[in-house]
Amino acid sequence: MMRRSLSGTMPPADMNRTIVFDLDDTIYLESDYVQSGKRAVAGLIRDTVGIDLAQDLLDCPDNFIDLACTRAGFPASAADALIWCYRLHFPDIGQRPGMAALFDALAARGDRICIITDGRAVTQRLKLAALGLLHVPAYISEELGATKPSPVAFQQVMQDFPGSAYFYVADNCRKDFIGPNGLGWTTIWLDPGPLSIHRAPPDIAEHDGNRPGHSIGTIEQLAQLLLHEQRMP
Ligand SMILES: [Mg+2]
Repeated sequence: MMRRSLSGTMPPADMNRTIVFDLDDTIYLESDYVQSGKRAVAGLIRDTVGIDLAQDLLDCPDNFIDLACTRAGFPASAADALIWCYRLHFPDIGQRPGMAALFDALAARGDRICIITDGRAVTQRLKLAALGLLHVPAYISEELGATKPSPVAFQQVMQDFPGSAYFYVADNCRKDFIGPNGLGWTTIWLDPGPLSIHRAPPDIAEHDGNRPGHSIGTIEQLAQLLLHEQRMP
């Protein structure tokens, strides 16, 4: 097993590498998913009661499900149906610019790519399908019975792909890096940008276990680190 790499060193360049990515606000922006879900709920309401609430829901800053129920004339008990519409819609989302090219470059280099994400199995797999990533091994908390900061998903990756140098690229310093740091992974915070839903940069980390080994501002800089840097200062 690799020793902890919080010092910023990178594993030897000739070691086989397993690069694991978080999904929400790392590979794509969750704000895009929220907008897509609101359009799906608006579509259901249009189909059932014939009114168009799309703009109202898109403009709603907080509980758009309650607003949708009220405006559609549905009882409060119908909220569950709208929530499941949101969770089960096929999302209109795309990978962040530069991410697909990075995946291609990592694969060409011989790196293995995986995804570890918290969330519902069906919801997260619909996102993977929409992003064209169903072929990537994905470790989803509902399927594993453990959410971050649990190390379970990270341990499962190490069991499935032994003898590798492991990396985790993610956005949330409240929960994402505790598990992989404890297992000696190289951890990288990738800034999700100002539109992120649950922004948690490294300066909110409360203790060493939360802190990423590297903080990266852009996908271009992430590519530079993963593809070109042998050792970090
Ligand atoms: Mg995330």
